[in-house]
Amino acid sequence: MNYDYDLFVIGAGSGGVRAARIAASHGAKVAIAEEYRIGGTCVIRGCVPKKLMVHAARFRDSFHDAVGFGWRIDTQPQFHWPTLREKLRAEVSRLSGLYRQNLERHGVEIFDSRAEFAGPHEILLVSEERIVSARHILVATGSAPWVPHNIPGAAHAITSNEIFELDELPASIAIIGGGYIAVEFACILHGLGVETHLLYRGPLILRGFDTELRERLMEALMKRGIHVHTHADVDRIERCEDARRVVHTRKGESLKVDQVLYATGREPYTFDLHLEKAGVELAANGAVKVDEHNRTNVKHIFAVGDVADHGVQLTPVAIREGHAVADRLFGGREVPALDYAGVPTAVFTTPEMGTAGMTEEQAREALGADGVKVFRSSFRPLAHSVSGREERTFMKLLVDAANDRVIGAHLLGEGSGELIQLLGTIISAGITKQQLDATIAVHPTAAEELVTMREPS
Ligand code: NDP
Repeated sequence: MNYDYDLFVIGAGSGGVRAARIAASHGAKVAIAEEYRIGGTCVIRGCVPKKLMVHAARFRDSFHDAVGFGWRIDTQPQFHWPTLREKLRAEVSRLSGLYRQNLERHGVEIFDSRAEFAGPHEILLVSEERIVSARHILVATGSAPWVPHNIPGAAHAITSNEIFELDELPASIAIIGGGYIAVEFACILHGLGVETHLLYRGPLILRGFDTELRERLMEALMKRGIHVHTHADVDRIERCEDARRVVHTRKGESLKVDQVLYATGREPYTFDLHLEKAGVELAANGAVKVDEHNRTNVKHIFAVGDVADHGVQLTPVAIREGHAVADRLFGGREVPALDYAGVPTAVFTTPEMGTAGMTEEQAREALGADGVKVFRSSFRPLAHSVSGREERTFMKLLVDAANDRVIGAHLLGEGSGELIQLLGTIISAGITKQQLDATIAVHPTAAEELVTMREPS
């Protein structure tokens, strides 16, 4: 049977763009459809503008630290949000343009249109009102912010989709949630001068991460002046006549703020995709069910990234999956399945968190209390002995007592996101603690602690 394309990709985010480009480089005839902007969440309203905002927010610390180093800052530095917002827009547009050029250079046909399934091999291009066919189809539609709509007044809140486009920064904000987005934006907005309240329904933010790290981070956020409200289950949100919002919790507390941000997770974006017309099965949460090679129950249809039901919503995972699907289909390569448990990750709070491998709780559960050696280091970075900043850096390595391999690394402090990249490699390569210790330290750095932690604690 003849098809219009060898591969049709729905969604030009991180995973879809990578798959399209690699498939085309292997000689496949590829098309990609995008209903919004090329680049997807990461480039347009996620990782990229967020990380730039992290940099902006951290200048507050730099101004403070500079004084300790002898700089005179005679006027109070002022932050001007519209300047940053325009720069973010420009950078996002530049990157989106680069993604487009890259696809075109590889001969991928781009449709600036919404695409939906019209049959097992058929795709409806909504803007063009026509149907095209493809031998293989990749669903790479990502995810969208999820807000608990049963909360009265939830519509008065914004999500991470809107945060980059605000006309002005609010004077105060309540952020609901305790995951990646909530804690990152709490630090960003606090750093930019917004009175920030973090409302988390549980006792300790960032459920799923190493408990000790979560405790230390929460303490650090509170010391910085972020108002962390735990056991704060939101009951309703009211909009006042002066356009401010009042957030009411189930405990009977109420908090009046200028803006409310919901950061309560992201849902797979399968809305109206009509996957049923192709017979593709969904999980209960709406994610596309896939096997370890990202293949759905329909053997020529694949799904990668946030829309797939493996539960790991991270850009590099989507990219790796998209690349692997293209390599397997058109490159004649056997690419091993991804080890999701081994994915290192950073949370761009201030102080920053980096984590790879097992948490201490997981390691003890898997290996028993005596099966794990824990090495810890907590220190005040050299610069802060002069800057006067109180913050400490914390590092923890988990080692399998039976074979001396490093099985977990948890960092809190400046540069943790950078350091954890290599610790991820150390863990996946099966490096032992002895091998780490045999490495000569780089002095004076924070990272040297990683090769000089001699005694388990
Ligand atoms: P997360 O899943 O990380 O966190 C969701 C938070 O919302 C949790 O604290 C959860 O609480 C809470 N929550 C869930 N439902 C409710 C509810 N009904 N009422 C109140 N609170 C609720 O989602 P995010 O939105 O923060 O981020 C989405 C994903 O994006 C992340 O999982 C991550 O994979 C990715 N991301 C990665 C970043 C990075 O790599 N640095 C940065 C930003 C996002 P509880 O824990 O109790 O369930």
